[in-house]
Amino acid sequence: MSQNAPQRLYLMQVGSMPEYQIPIVCYLVQTDDGQNILIDTGLPEVIPDDSSEFENGKDVIQQLASIGLKPEDIDTVISTHYDGDHAGRHASFTKAGYVVQRLHHEDAQTNPRFDSIRAEWDQPIERIRLVDGDTELLPGLELIETSGHVPGHQSVLVRLPKTGAVLLTIDAVPFGGGFTREPQEDGSSPNGEAGQASVVKLLDRVEREHIGLVIFGHDNEQWSTLKKLPEYYE
Ligand SMILES: [Zn+2]
Repeated sequence: MSQNAPQRLYLMQVGSMPEYQIPIVCYLVQTDDGQNILIDTGLPEVIPDDSSEFENGKDVIQQLASIGLKPEDIDTVISTHYDGDHAGRHASFTKAGYVVQRLHHEDAQTNPRFDSIRAEWDQPIERIRLVDGDTELLPGLELIETSGHVPGHQSVLVRLPKTGAVLLTIDAVPFGGGFTREPQEDGSSPNGEAGQASVVKLLDRVEREHIGLVIFGHDNEQWSTLKKLPEYYE
């Protein structure tokens, strides 16, 4: 038996885009040796002017507090990408190491898209682990490079003892309707060739490895059916 494999996966909604009923979410993985691994951190405390369509809910700090965790208890923050609804509280986790695709971190240095929350993600480089492509972070916790939404976006595969494999697509597949080999015309498909290639990459993994649960990044209809913190998948 491995000593640091994922034991629990918590899902939490930390905000929304009310006009479109889109949930803004983060995830927490707990391992059997007591590590707390957060995946994304949600919206910034003060929403920038250019992002007024977003609204904070019970934020990641409050959600973690409700299961007895302080920001200092987080060992690792897996950063899927630096958009403002995914990396908005990174700086609150002062004891954590961050894990991000090198391609993404390097692109973000000069990409104005990520400027408004630079103070959150632009942490001292000693605290950032830059990874290149698909990477097994722990036995049962894998990062899957899924560029397209942004360069160096990453999705996360978590293997749990009872539930089995759970794929968190994040923004590689924001809505379940876009999880198809043929691009959809209804706007649910990710943009561009790289985005579509990443969808196919994830579909291949799901089929090959019999992944039972695929959680899409911003799918309100699916979200309403999932267990949320304080409940968890195990
Ligand atoms: Zn997003």
